Amino acid sequence: FDLQNDDFTNLQELGQGNGGSVMKVQHVPTGTIMAKKIVLIDAKPAERKKILLELQIMHDCDSPYIISSYGAYLAEPNICICMEFMDKGSFDGIYKRIGAIEIKVVGKVAVAVLEGLRYLYDVHRIIHRDIKPSNILCNSSGDIKLCDFGVSGELVNSIANTFVGTSIYMSPERIQGATYSVKSDIWSLGITLIELTVGQFPFSGSFSDDEDSDLEPNGINGDGETTPSHRDSLQVPAPTDAASKRRSRRRSKGVSLHGGGMTMSIIELMHQIVNEPSPRLPSGKFGREAEEFINGCLEKDLDARRTPAQLFDYAWILYSRQNGVDMKAWAATF
Ligand code: ATP
Ligand code: MG
Repeated sequence: FDLQNDDFTNLQELGQGNGGSVMKVQHVPTGTIMAKKIVLIDAKPAERKKILLELQIMHDCDSPYIISSYGAYLAEPNICICMEFMDKGSFDGIYKRIGAIEIKVVGKVAVAVLEGLRYLYDVHRIIHRDIKPSNILCNSSGDIKLCDFGVSGELVNSIANTFVGTSIYMSPERIQGATYSVKSDIWSLGITLIELTVGQFPFSGSFSDDEDSDLEPNGINGDGETTPSHRDSLQVPAPTDAASKRRSRRRSKGVSLHGGGMTMSIIELMHQIVNEPSPRLPSGKFGREAEEFINGCLEKDLDARRTPAQLFDYAWILYSRQNGVDMKAWAATF
């Protein structure tokens, strides 16, 4: 593909993130439907060149668990990245539409993410760096694929948004400034899997640094009751129970990034991730194998946290590979 702006017709906006926006487009000369990510960058010519060069790695990826790329081009002051269009969207959108996702399907997501991470690392020596529901996509064939992986350090440096690289799925060691490792992606995977299973981001916003130290570490009610929520990547759903709402009114510290509504500041959330016990699946509801896997992902101690290779041997993964779920039929239900 020789990609240039004039050759595209915009069909629909698919979503917006911190880094830019994504459009469903048609590449007119070939008739191909694509997803086009438009990122506003602030970069000198040499840096732009480097970004395009680094993005080439995306083009070289060839795995059923990784979104394929048609290429990238500059359209000043933006950079446009054209990728495979996934017609069922991302898993954050899916669970917000249909509610908590059944555990067998979440098992399939876990397998796909592990496979995707293994491919990126073993073949390209890439660490994903941004595992979260919005970067795990689904199509009507029932395929599950990863997008937005860290191919271009130069691109991250050039994005004109301060919050790029800050994510609520960040591991405790990342928050504390440690260098990135594959195990940081595993933490993000654990958080993501709980979110999909219970239908809610597992940190509730009920953090406080004083009298509330007896709080449960996460926002999942014991009975598994969940509330769908709308948030962007720096916004956390408001606590759902009355008690934590009261607590959260008492909190006033930190920098609130979003005015209006009850949102937790990113500072408070980071504090909670580092200092509170890791979130867990509500016990006894989704099976011991799933709980064990997720606990292996969410060890705060890096040495105890499992590597992708170890996680492949977990009973839940072995079982999920052949659990009989027809993903194509599942994807046809929404
Ligand atoms: P952040 O910028 O914080 O990473 P994000 O992942 O939600 O958040 P984008 O990567 O800009 O932001 O994506 C915006 C939305 O576009 C996603 O939530 C997803 O639903 C949709 N999207 C992205 N890529 C594709 C694709 N290839 N096919 C279909 N939909 C896509
Ligand atoms: Mg994304």
